[in-house]
Amino acid sequence: FRRPSEHTPGHKIHEVENTCLFCRILGGEIPATVVHRTETTLAFRDIDPKAPSHVLVIPVAHHANVIELAADPAAAADVLATAAKVAELEGLTDGFRVIFNTGEHGGQEVHHVHAHVVGGAPLGPMLA
Ligand code: IMP
Repeated sequence: FRRPSEHTPGHKIHEVENTCLFCRILGGEIPATVVHRTETTLAFRDIDPKAPSHVLVIPVAHHANVIELAADPAAAADVLATAAKVAELEGLTDGFRVIFNTGEHGGQEVHHVHAHVVGGAPLGPMLA
């Protein structure tokens, strides 16, 4: 498990670590196919890919959604930098999409913010 200093002050650390799927992946409790890792982020393959390349990028610090992530500019910048690195590593030179599903209408299912990096084929006007 990670040290409290790696979490946003105010979060219920143990509760979060015990219940959050992506915190459990970060802790090594649940396996993932890791594409890239930094001190503050992890990129791993989506278990149910919607495109030839579909990678999730998460911050180590638990933030529920992109609104909370935006309040931690360093973490937000790190997530974007890792998304860009993933696109490079995945060879997405013809383009790709970065998506933060947010809330009920956004179809967010996992409440640890994650950037979907999708590509490897033309995606059409919207990701279905
Ligand atoms: P959301 O709908 O934006 O919250 O996306 C959640 C994503 O997490 C979905 O695309 C799922 O396929 C993916 N996912 C769920 N569980 C796992 C897992 O254990 N490993 C990798 N990806 C997962």
